Amino acid sequence: MKPLYGGIEAGGTKFVCAVASGPDDIRAEERFPTTTPEETIARALAFFEQQGGGQAIQAVGIASFGPIDPDPRSPTFGYVTNTPKPHWAHTDFAGAVRRALGVPVGFDTDVNVAALGEGRWGAAQGLDTFIYLTIGTGIGGGAVINGELAHGLMHPEMGHTRIPHDWQADPFPGSCSVHGDCWEGLAAGPALEARWKQRGETLPPDHPAWALEADYLAYGVSNLVLVLSPQRVIMGGGVMEQAHLFPMVRRRVQEILNGYVKSPALLEEIDSYIVPPLLGNRAGVLGAIALAERAAQRATAQRA
Ligand code: ZN
Repeated sequence: MKPLYGGIEAGGTKFVCAVASGPDDIRAEERFPTTTPEETIARALAFFEQQGGGQAIQAVGIASFGPIDPDPRSPTFGYVTNTPKPHWAHTDFAGAVRRALGVPVGFDTDVNVAALGEGRWGAAQGLDTFIYLTIGTGIGGGAVINGELAHGLMHPEMGHTRIPHDWQADPFPGSCSVHGDCWEGLAAGPALEARWKQRGETLPPDHPAWALEADYLAYGVSNLVLVLSPQRVIMGGGVMEQAHLFPMVRRRVQEILNGYVKSPALLEEIDSYIVPPLLGNRAGVLGAIALAERAAQRATAQRA
């Protein structure tokens, strides 16, 4: 019998919970709105207690909106920390699940977990160092480095790095409430919409908005390629559903790097280097299942 895991994709507006052993064996799935922590976590727990068909869940993985504490050595591991989201600041999310279900719990950022899912079953299978970017209402990035999720001080905040901004070519000041024209402030969905005064999906493919967008995305990706040396870059999120962006971003990354990184991945193989996610909108919840699998394996290794 395949071991079963629970996964929670905890978003700011909705939760997706699933019980599965993998993408081809999802036993149950439920989604519901994110309200208070008490009510929402209780609903997730009730779901897990009812599912599995009598087979026990081995572990639970949580992909959480942030900011969070993903460091297992920290006293506030598993907490949603200083989020502006009402009621959720300083919530012991992973602890509540662990105490109620009595199983190991993995806890990480939504983008780190999506990266893990793509590594386990999606577009980064077989690789040990890669990044997953989501370009949507914000820009977030998760990283697997030498097989481990990137944490460190807190967790990476790739969307708030800086990229060149030519104020004459693009007088839009940026939409990030903290930095103005950081990468997210210039290139996330809300920036695209505010700059051109229409929704991104209504802009035709030959609109100049897309060349500028590809330029900004390529600057951010090039920085990450230089800093982390990923073996692949996965780009998802609502903005990247405009599939015509991919060839534009790939070409601009090549131009910006100018042949400096001498790997075939960035030269003739770039089409398989900068790619969309293979798990699509399931990356979050399947990543949470992969995180649970990891948490169960670690617990077993610790007992041994
Ligand atoms: Zn910012």
